[in-house]
Amino acid sequence: MPIKLAPGVITGNALKDLNAVCKEYSCALPAVNVISSEGIGAALAAASEAKAPIIIQFSNGGGSFYAGKGLSNDKHQGAIAGSIAGALSVHHLAKAYGVPVILHTDHAARKLLPWIDGLISYSELHYKQHGMPLFSSHMLDLSEDSLDDNLNTCAEYLERMNKLGMTLEIELGITGGEEDGVDNSGVDHADLYTKAVDVLQAYDKLNSIGNFTVAASFGNTHGVYSPGNVTLKPEILKESQELVAKERGTKVKPLDLVFHGGSGSEQAKITEAVSYGVVKFNIDTDTQWAFTEPVRQYIDEKRDYLMRQIGNPEGAEKPNKKHIDPRTYLANGAKNMTARLVQSFRDLNAYGKFEF
Ligand SMILES: [Zn+2]
Repeated sequence: MPIKLAPGVITGNALKDLNAVCKEYSCALPAVNVISSEGIGAALAAASEAKAPIIIQFSNGGGSFYAGKGLSNDKHQGAIAGSIAGALSVHHLAKAYGVPVILHTDHAARKLLPWIDGLISYSELHYKQHGMPLFSSHMLDLSEDSLDDNLNTCAEYLERMNKLGMTLEIELGITGGEEDGVDNSGVDHADLYTKAVDVLQAYDKLNSIGNFTVAASFGNTHGVYSPGNVTLKPEILKESQELVAKERGTKVKPLDLVFHGGSGSEQAKITEAVSYGVVKFNIDTDTQWAFTEPVRQYIDEKRDYLMRQIGNPEGAEKPNKKHIDPRTYLANGAKNMTARLVQSFRDLNAYGKFEF
């Protein structure tokens, strides 16, 4: 790769350059949702093992969970505090692990904009103190609005974020399925496919303002479903790239694209989507499963050691302290989550490709 990355959080044009290199070499980076320190550690360990940068993202619910459910989230204070605390932890730990990281937030519908406002305000403070924002990028998902409303709001946010070297991810069309309390499982099938002309309109609106990425829908769905329930049409991504390149006379693959609902996708469709300029691949359900499965296994196997504090099959007075310690099974979950993410780097053709 013709790029050398520094450990720590990547922002601004360094991120733009990284995305360009990913497109040139037809590889993408996994974007993993984290909710806890175990998830952060698992993600950083995966980046270290795969020798590639990783995208760590907080959803509104994930940020609130990170802060602890004891902190109210009625005015988004839980999600704001938790996302900031998690991000600060990532800044520190990324350097300790020696890996480059992109820090991002997941879907923010219009009602969640106060959460993003709080985070951008903190990034402005962070920029004054450290010359860089706290987050590399935020996503606004205003796909429920009209295209004009969606893009007008995105343009306002990008103006503010661009001053800090931040990238904006927008959504055009709707990602199907259900995630983090947003249920799109009942939407009209036609809405699950973005139109190339809409992507061109977004390009015209945002390209002169700052760096942005596009989550275009091509039938992708949050969650993992039985085969046959999801029809992916990655050619929509190709059509969008070609339309913008032709109409605006840009080089090939002018857009940095995002693949939502990556869990459970067929490898051939992943490879095809990446070849059309997908640089970010969201993975959540598969890593949730990777974390939970060994925890369930542990509880099943150790059942007789987890029924009381004293007394197990080895003796009525044997203490169970080491079996009860949550670190035992949380570490198993984190280890398996790392393995799943390393697999994702391989699936996305990013394994071992980078220098840092
Ligand atoms: Zn998504």
